Amino acid sequence: MTPEEFRRNGHAAIDWIADYWASLDDLPVRAQVAPGDVRRLLPESAPETGEPFDAVLADLDRVVVPGLTHWQHPRFFAYFPANSSPAAILGDLLSSGIGAQGMIWATSPAVTEVEQVVLDWLAEALGLPDDFRSDGAGGGVIQDTASTATFTALLAALHRASGGEVRRHGLGDAGWRVYGSSQAHSSLVKAAMMAGLGEDAVRVIGVDPLTQAIDLDALESAIEADIGRGLTPALVHLAAGSTSTGAMDDLVGAGRIAREHGAWVHVDAAWAGVAAVCPEHRTHLAGVGSADSFVTNPHKWLLTTFDCSTFWVRDRAALTGALSILPEYLRNAATESGEVVDYRDWHPQLGRRFRAVKLWAVLRTYGLEGLRAHVRSGVELAAHVADLVAGDDRFEMVTEPSLSLVVFRLVAGDEQTMAAMEAVNASGEAYLSHTTVEGRAAIRLAVGSWCTTRADVERTWRALQAAAAEG
Ligand code: PLP
Repeated sequence: MTPEEFRRNGHAAIDWIADYWASLDDLPVRAQVAPGDVRRLLPESAPETGEPFDAVLADLDRVVVPGLTHWQHPRFFAYFPANSSPAAILGDLLSSGIGAQGMIWATSPAVTEVEQVVLDWLAEALGLPDDFRSDGAGGGVIQDTASTATFTALLAALHRASGGEVRRHGLGDAGWRVYGSSQAHSSLVKAAMMAGLGEDAVRVIGVDPLTQAIDLDALESAIEADIGRGLTPALVHLAAGSTSTGAMDDLVGAGRIAREHGAWVHVDAAWAGVAAVCPEHRTHLAGVGSADSFVTNPHKWLLTTFDCSTFWVRDRAALTGALSILPEYLRNAATESGEVVDYRDWHPQLGRRFRAVKLWAVLRTYGLEGLRAHVRSGVELAAHVADLVAGDDRFEMVTEPSLSLVVFRLVAGDEQTMAAMEAVNASGEAYLSHTTVEGRAAIRLAVGSWCTTRADVERTWRALQAAAAEG
């Protein structure tokens, strides 16, 4: 592709995206294909000779779009949102165009320094403690996902708790234990597996049946019982917005218990953390000031195209102590001067994209006011859904609405709840997901797309009511 062809095809690709968005409202939200349908439309092997780029775009329409679940659809309410936005897409494109590797400061200083500044901006915007900023002992980094961030936090925790022994000699016989509630994201167990602790090293702590927040007494008892058995608490994982119901652990109380017993406090606010751009939606982060690490995903609810998971630590020395490695080919004067940050020491992988550009583009073009308006709109629409649920006695709320997440069910029972949700999903009208709370099925409706309106949630509600009537 010549530079001129690139220019022409690039315009066509942006046109394709704009047309795709414009068509979303008329498309079924959930993909309507069976296993193998997409594959059958693709040739067995790659073409021997190059095809025009137009052919790729045409196949997006013919092969790909019918096989997509449209995450940017205004009536996508399943899981949590995976916000994309015009600004983020253009930022991502620019990052691809620049094509720089930011593994160490020296391989492209701007990649590191823009990321540091953007993460400092975001830390300030979310009201995070000053300790997390890059001009102190801590700092932020963009990870691919919250799962990687949690894994990285665990490696740092083991490094700190073992005084570096884990790095040198492996896990040894300390009997490391990790704590999280029954509502903690599954990435915690995966992190323990990847760190070599094994899934049994994770102590699953019970929750309050109403709030689904971690039970502080149970946490304390579990830690003390383990210490009594000669085991060592390494990390306490706290959810600020659990996946199932958006439950908020008490960061102040649980943080105190963890610290008293020498454990690293990791706050997983993958979805709900970004709501803190609004001062009135920060209460769930009270206590984050004493956390050792914190993760939130702008790629969920802050208009930043996947992947962009922002992760901060109070003391970067624990992280770099756990992960730094310096092969000869990466030796350079800047690293040796100690004046620069080399992000390759902040996560498992070496190579890294210039992800900060898309977050920078989002922060600058929306401004904090624009981002607050986005979050507030999601919270308001969720409150509207909660009112609709309260106004129909065939339905009931399961937990209090949490920011932009509403969890409810049919009073008639689990079977009816699941059937109503499935009917709506199968119709393509909207897309919802489910969970179980205290053993009973519930529907989750998570608002978050920048193009969702009141009309969209009302249309979805009418579809649910119709499904309930039929069931
Ligand atoms: N933590 C919470 C609370 C989540 O809800 C999720 C995903 O929904 C994750 C972690 C995992 O996020 P990621 O896909 O970025 O690893």
